[in-house]
Amino acid sequence: MIKFADQFQYFEKFKKSEFCLPDSWIVVRLDGKQFTRFTDFHGFDKPNDIRALELMNRAAAKVMEEFEDICLAFGQSDEYSFVFKKDTDIFNRDRDTISSVVNSLFTSAYVFFWEHYFGYTKLLYPPGFDCRVVLYPCDSSLRDYLSWRQADVHINNLYNTAFWTLVKKGKHDRRKAQEILRGTVSRDKNEILFKDFGINYNNEPLMFRKGTTLIRKLVRCLKDDNCRECILQLHCDIIGDSFWEENLEILRQ
Ligand code: ATP
Ligand code: ATP
Ligand code: MG
Ligand code: MG
Ligand code: MG
Repeated sequence: MIKFADQFQYFEKFKKSEFCLPDSWIVVRLDGKQFTRFTDFHGFDKPNDIRALELMNRAAAKVMEEFEDICLAFGQSDEYSFVFKKDTDIFNRDRDTISSVVNSLFTSAYVFFWEHYFGYTKLLYPPGFDCRVVLYPCDSSLRDYLSWRQADVHINNLYNTAFWTLVKKGKHDRRKAQEILRGTVSRDKNEILFKDFGINYNNEPLMFRKGTTLIRKLVRCLKDDNCRECILQLHCDIIGDSFWEENLEILRQ
């Protein structure tokens, strides 16, 4: 029996662990696998299904509840980014363990809470998410990363809003709508929405335009006057300085 165990020690040599660089922000980003198909299958409202966005936010909050070292999460469409504190020693900073546990917890929470948000709309097959870990050594690169993700929300949502307005209200087929939007810049899309359909893009819901930011805050409970840490859901600009000035504790670890 002992000999048997010794024999298997040999496999340990094949194991290769990669550790996240010390003193750097660990960002875990996951993204729905083939969600274009998944959203079609499940009849998501286009361009933005609120139930689906809220489900993503709920699953992300579950991940944040579980991992106290996550100081911020940012989500949009079928993706979520989780930011771990620079000095976290979660799973000894083992990259594979971090990404696999975050991803599987998020995915199972997505399935677990599905019914709460979708009611009678049945989940037709088990969804999957891809996941990657990216390290940012300084605060400014972390901010740039988050700005990039929020800029992405703006670009995609403006396009999708214009596209689906042309299809649903303009009665164009999808190919024609695509053609109309080809080569247009933001100003053109805003103009199409406003002039042809009376839609002021700036009045679209903030969650659609800015994505969702989850942060931790101490909140005073009215019942017993005690302070408790809560996960706060925001839909604000995180590109400019004001968000970071109002929430200094995020970068100050
Ligand atoms: P991949 O597997 O490469 O990620 P994908 O089909 O998931 O492929 P994405 O670029 O991730 O491609 O795009 C996500 C798709 O899911 C887009 O078509 C987007 O419109 C759709 N989607 C995601 N969330 C929602 C939502 N809340 N409401 C409506 N559509 C959504
Ligand atoms: P970690 O998060 O580090 O993996 P763990 O508690 O999951 O911690 P493991 O070494 O993976 O530790 O052990 C799995 C545990 O689950 C063991 O205690 C094992 O007995 C129990 N377990 C797993 N599958 C079954 C099963 N089918 N029936 C009964 N017990 C099980
Ligand atoms: Mg992807
Ligand atoms: Mg996807
Ligand atoms: Mg995506």
